[in-house]
Amino acid sequence: MILIGMGANLPSHTGSPAETIRAALQRLPGLGLVISAVSPFYESPSWPHGEGPPFINAVVKIETKLAPGSLLFGLQKIETEFGRQRGDKWGPRTLDLDILDYHGLVTDTETLLLPHPWICERAFVLKPLLDVAPAWCHPVSGKGVLELLTMLDGAAAASCQPIGELRA
Ligand code: ADP
Ligand code: MG
Repeated sequence: MILIGMGANLPSHTGSPAETIRAALQRLPGLGLVISAVSPFYESPSWPHGEGPPFINAVVKIETKLAPGSLLFGLQKIETEFGRQRGDKWGPRTLDLDILDYHGLVTDTETLLLPHPWICERAFVLKPLLDVAPAWCHPVSGKGVLELLTMLDGAAAASCQPIGELRA
């Protein structure tokens, strides 16, 4: 299973963060990806500072023949297309596309860490992940997504909620 995390908290030329994510989803087939499931969009306060606009996040389940490095390269091209500035780690961004899991591969190179290191700590990853892949288990710890969610701080997890259709 291949899972991509999508996030945004600044408007892009396309519009609001939710509109950017929707437009970016339409770009994925052009990279050679087949989308098999898209989660609802979730909203959470900006992290880690609690300042700045809230984040919109989603998780997508895909299939592709691209190798992990080529997949990352393609996703970064889409980030750039939607105005992503590099060097803003954890700061506000127009679009963030992360490979969360690539068929359970465990790798730690300079440019690619798999599984994505922050999956277990982030409700805005685990909640949409549960929607698209409820049977998913962490490739290293073997813990299930629901178990990982219950280990999160309750208040932090509660602050991440699906956005209503009207606001989407
Ligand atoms: P983050 O998503 O952690 O906030 P960035 O989006 O700014 O950080 O990414 C910084 C770098 O993270 C990228 O240049 C990329 O090489 C690296 N990276 C490592 N592992 C992954 C992964 N699984 N998915 C996406 N990027 C990754
Ligand atoms: Mg990223």
